[in-house]
Amino acid sequence: MLTDGIFQYMERYKHENLFLCQDEEVDFKAVIAIHSTVLGPAAGGTRMWKYDSELDAIEDALRLSRGMTYKYAAAGVNLGGGKAVIIADPRRSDREAIFRTLGKFINRLGGKFYTGEDVGTTLEDMEYIAMETPYIITLPEYLGGSGPISPLTAFGVVQAMRASAREVFGSDDLRGKKIAVQGVGSVGSSLVEQLSELGANLVISDIEKPRLSDMVSRFKVEQVPPEAIYDVNCDIFSPCAFGAIINDDTIPRLKCKLVCGSANNQLKEEKHGDLLQQKGIFYAPDYVANGGGAIYDADRLFGNGIVNKERARAKVARIYHRMEELIKIAKRDRVSTAKAADILAEERLKAIAKVKRHWETWTFR
Ligand code: NAD
Repeated sequence: MLTDGIFQYMERYKHENLFLCQDEEVDFKAVIAIHSTVLGPAAGGTRMWKYDSELDAIEDALRLSRGMTYKYAAAGVNLGGGKAVIIADPRRSDREAIFRTLGKFINRLGGKFYTGEDVGTTLEDMEYIAMETPYIITLPEYLGGSGPISPLTAFGVVQAMRASAREVFGSDDLRGKKIAVQGVGSVGSSLVEQLSELGANLVISDIEKPRLSDMVSRFKVEQVPPEAIYDVNCDIFSPCAFGAIINDDTIPRLKCKLVCGSANNQLKEEKHGDLLQQKGIFYAPDYVANGGGAIYDADRLFGNGIVNKERARAKVARIYHRMEELIKIAKRDRVSTAKAADILAEERLKAIAKVKRHWETWTFR
């Protein structure tokens, strides 16, 4: 709990820095949290939200920055975990002033923190940040960015699904597999397209009728009402809408052998990973399965700022091998796959911390 004290919280989860930024002239208040720079500069999206209290905003930034450390570590990306949180109504209209102010503060950190979009912020907001600082990951294509990342997130989910299918069904061929996709938005619709090409039998749900109609007109899919998706008798359930959908109410209803999708924070609580395992359902940890977009977007930073789509896509494809590694860890340590993902990330952080200590002695600082 953050109420026990900010430093105590940071010590418990090993956060490096917390920056509070304010500019009363533009009515600007933001928090930048850096959890770890062991693997590289910290990176994480900027969230804009009307928090109930300043402490809530600080806790959110600290919690989300830690999540980014694990995501990049498990993905094999050389970035650390960070997060920026602006305390404001996400509908505020004075966006140029807000995001240029944030850009000014990010610039002051001299490359210790890179940012991109998150809840409440748009690609256009990133353009404003970029006016003040070069430390930005997500940019529109016409400004040298990588372009839409959702198809690559979906591509990564397919890799995680294939590696998991090999473990569960003995083959990574998804042809003929019945897959229930919850949510056909940016990622879900691209996933449906890619899985159709692989010959899967698809059942879809969404709360937006036009999205469903579009899918039905383009692909051979069956549609079910939103609540019915949990009851579909299928091989794979793929949550691509929102979080906490694996919980006490839904687990008894699931009739699949594998859960693998793009949604963030799929498990309502940690125990739900164990409950899935007890029911004989394999869980592909969300932050490993959905890391494709982040891997793709970050790749530009490691190629002198130049987008190389082929190289970036090849890196996303490695999610298949990351899944294989974590399956080995789950068996070795007799833990759930959710826990194994954390161990995979922590082992990489520990190993690279040693490497960096080693090379840091070579330079004069
Ligand atoms: P999106 O908003 O484009 O799509 C979400 C879809 O879910 C929408 O079509 C929405 O109508 C639908 N939906 C909402 N409630 C529903 C319900 N009860 N039943 C069925 N459908 C419902 O979002 P997205 O970018 O496709 O992201 C989907 C999920 O994946 C989110 O949890 C997001 O955080 C996560 N994610 C996305 C990316 C990315 O590259 N976009 C990367 C990592 C994680």
